[in-house]
Amino acid sequence: MTFEAQLKSAVQSNDLINHYQPIINTKDKSVCGVELLLRWPTENGMISPGVFIPIAEEIALIIQITEQALIRVLNEFSDFLKSNPQFYISINLSAIHILRSDLTSCLIEIINPFDISPRQFRLEITESILMDDKDRALEQLNSLKKAGFRLFLDDFGTGFSSLTYLSQFPIDVIKIDQSFVRDIGSNKVNESIIKTILTLAKNLEIYCVAEGVETREQIHFLTKQGCTNFQGYYFDKPMSYPDLIESGRIQKLIDEIRKT
Ligand code: C2E
Ligand code: CA
Ligand code: CA
Repeated sequence: MTFEAQLKSAVQSNDLINHYQPIINTKDKSVCGVELLLRWPTENGMISPGVFIPIAEEIALIIQITEQALIRVLNEFSDFLKSNPQFYISINLSAIHILRSDLTSCLIEIINPFDISPRQFRLEITESILMDDKDRALEQLNSLKKAGFRLFLDDFGTGFSSLTYLSQFPIDVIKIDQSFVRDIGSNKVNESIIKTILTLAKNLEIYCVAEGVETREQIHFLTKQGCTNFQGYYFDKPMSYPDLIESGRIQKLIDEIRKT
């Protein structure tokens, strides 16, 4: 109860903050975008989204939280997005948010005044959304696509991972879950699953981003299997806009990738 009240109060005062983790394309040698990952700073330290997002979903605060986060993205990144038209911001959407009927128009209404194209946004969804209410999900995803957003299927491989979903839903990119990436070098079954996901993506003419990449060995394995998009501590942890952009960290990262 106290936790819920504190979360409500934090949202009311717009106290949550945005961190961003770079997504790297080693083929183009570029930072192609960032994933928005929320943080809740409190007097007892930073609270992880893994803890407060499920509660925010339960008490129906998630929509307000996501919209506030999107406004912070636009305030922080709009100049950067305008001068880097290929660069994208990837945003996690909760299932209950996806099923909201006015989702597309609400997102467009927030983005429009900043004069940024929806093409510079990726929306990360999980398979549970597709399973819960298939027809409704399809309608919503088609509407988001029509408005110009691109869709990432997050945590792929951890849920039901139905191949039917991949062919029926307008997914642009699959994110290979970090639980598989972590097992590279120690678990042959999970290595095979990664290979299968990459082959599947190739056949569907979509591409994959490997999440939670921490070691050179993982990069090496994934590159050998044809994956060229990575996100993980090997490159950078999620960080605030000033730490990532204003400090010049992103330029240093680009220079490092060019050298590899
Ligand atoms: P996710 O979408 O799967 O995000 C990836 C998580 O992996 C993030 O945890 C990130 O910090 C962490 N990570 C990135 N690279 C590495 C690595 O190399 N090694 C390891 N061990 N971990 C890595 P984080 O930031 O704690 O977020 C946890 C989850 O909370 C996210 O998982 C996402 O499901 C949810 N979340 C975060 N922000 C939002 C949001 O704005 N909206 C919604 N609906 N969910 C969010
Ligand atoms: Ca995600
Ligand atoms: Ca994920």
